[in-house]
Amino acid sequence: MLRYLTVPVTAFQQNCSLVWCDATQQAAVIDPGGDLDVLLAEVQRLGLTLSQIWLTHAHIDHAGGTGELATRLGLPIVGPHPGDQFWIDGLPQQSAMFGFPPAQHFTPTRWLADGDQVQIGNETLAVRHCPGHTPGHVVFHAPQIDRAFVGDVLFAGSIGRTDFPMGNHQDLIDSITQRLWPMGDQTVFIPGHGPESSFGRERKSNPYVGGT
Ligand SMILES: [Zn+2]
Ligand SMILES: [Zn+2]
Repeated sequence: MLRYLTVPVTAFQQNCSLVWCDATQQAAVIDPGGDLDVLLAEVQRLGLTLSQIWLTHAHIDHAGGTGELATRLGLPIVGPHPGDQFWIDGLPQQSAMFGFPPAQHFTPTRWLADGDQVQIGNETLAVRHCPGHTPGHVVFHAPQIDRAFVGDVLFAGSIGRTDFPMGNHQDLIDSITQRLWPMGDQTVFIPGHGPESSFGRERKSNPYVGGT
């Protein structure tokens, strides 16, 4: 069975998630934006073997700790989609601008594309490319537990910002309605910030994409 624990990290309270296969205790960390010692303490407390880093997109609060963590533990970096290369290149400037510790540059071990799969232990998750907030944003869908890790695409009651370079509002709406909604109303999503919600609830009540 796939399990997960969400740990808010950085001054932006970004929802970093540990996801693991409880048959093997193999774990991946989604979006290690920072506070690596907090994350590694949770890994140890849970008795997990951290073996992969998965990225939804390359904003500093999601990707800032990636280079250091990959180097420290020798972990592969999976994702995001190549559309976010310019955000990875800009991580040093992002960390300076937002007062983060200096971010180490990194090169993903494996870029992701729509329809790809990622695997941890015996568990497989599906990858959907969801551009709009950033051009290379991806989400991770775990249908076996009706969960989706959606980064900054969709929030409880809101949607991702699109006023960044290469942001695109229509792309974001299309990502939500064409790639998230088909996962089903019952799917609970873990957003990049704030509380969980379900796609069914957002379809009814989200002021930006409700009624779509
Ligand atoms: Zn973001
Ligand atoms: Zn964010």
